[in-house]
Amino acid sequence: MEYSIATLGSHSALQILKGAKDEGFRTIAICKSDHAFVYRHFGVADEIIEIQSYSEFPTLEDALLKRNAILIPHASLIAYVDLKAIEGMKVPYYGNRKILFWESDRERQRIWLEKAGLNLPKVFNDPSEIDRPAIVKFPGAKGGQGYFLVKSEREFRRKIGKIKEYVIQEYIVGIPVYIHYFYSVIRNELELMGFDRRYESNVDGIGRIPPNLQRDLKVTYTIVGNFPLMLRESLLPEVFKMGESVIKASKEICSPGIYGPFCLETVVTPDLKFYVFEISARIVAGTNVFMETSPYALIKHGKPMSTGRRIALEIREAIEQDRLKEILG
Ligand code: AMP
Ligand code: AMP
Repeated sequence: MEYSIATLGSHSALQILKGAKDEGFRTIAICKSDHAFVYRHFGVADEIIEIQSYSEFPTLEDALLKRNAILIPHASLIAYVDLKAIEGMKVPYYGNRKILFWESDRERQRIWLEKAGLNLPKVFNDPSEIDRPAIVKFPGAKGGQGYFLVKSEREFRRKIGKIKEYVIQEYIVGIPVYIHYFYSVIRNELELMGFDRRYESNVDGIGRIPPNLQRDLKVTYTIVGNFPLMLRESLLPEVFKMGESVIKASKEICSPGIYGPFCLETVVTPDLKFYVFEISARIVAGTNVFMETSPYALIKHGKPMSTGRRIALEIREAIEQDRLKEILG
């Protein structure tokens, strides 16, 4: 029976499903009922399975198995469906499911990124150590919602209230660059898919008002959208080197390591150093700005290639070479 490509209807589903169709797959979107019309409107799904709430997702196991579906994960799946439930489902899953364990916790991420030898923002283990601007973050992939900035322990104590779980990270002043990679197991090669920067509310709006009005505003980092970005070409060797090191380190911590799409979230300082503040071990929504292709993917593949399509191409080549087992985790 032919394989189908299935994903949850949000985040990068349009890209994933369109890419899968371009590579000749049958596609399935699993949508909350009030979102389904979007996927119907764009015609990217051959079948739409409607659910009332994301918590119903694990009950679709048999339906997906019957359709010979391969599930493509993204941040909305991770954000809305219980990790244990995803890990326990028998539905074939593109990627190393075990890497979710490493990605879902900032401390484990740090171990991984340090092992890769990357440059990371300092972490203040105790608020009394805060001696420069710092960003206070909370657990879970909630897109930066609620984060705040502080410059002293006093300010931290005032703002944190009763919250018990947080991370205090050095705030790197520079510009954010999100690097989209794709590591192909089938071709044994790391590819650069593109770069984006994020559009976050309200931090990206604060520069639009005069400083006297900015002073008392609470800065937040709620993700709303993304912009495409091209990087200075002389930075590309460093970009590839960082990606390679992350893959190498991942093989040591969680064999067979990371593969498929992943993203390093960085801030680049004026001395052109990349500070990596997070890793996403799957497709990031920033790749949506290249739903057709990025310039890098176009020159690499000689035809338009989105990250969504690249996933489907990898699956197709794995099927053709009878190597599907190597890319399903
Ligand atoms: P949503 O399905 O839009 O509610 O998104 C679920 C989670 O995915 C959010 O909490 C974000 O962490 C992440 N996410 C969604 N869209 C984007 C985006 N455009 N850029 C970065 N992260 C995103
Ligand atoms: P995150 O949820 O970790 O992706 O962070 C959300 C946003 O906070 C990012 O897009 C950046 O704008 C900002 N940010 C996070 N960590 C840092 C940092 N250490 N230094 C500067 N900006 C940061």
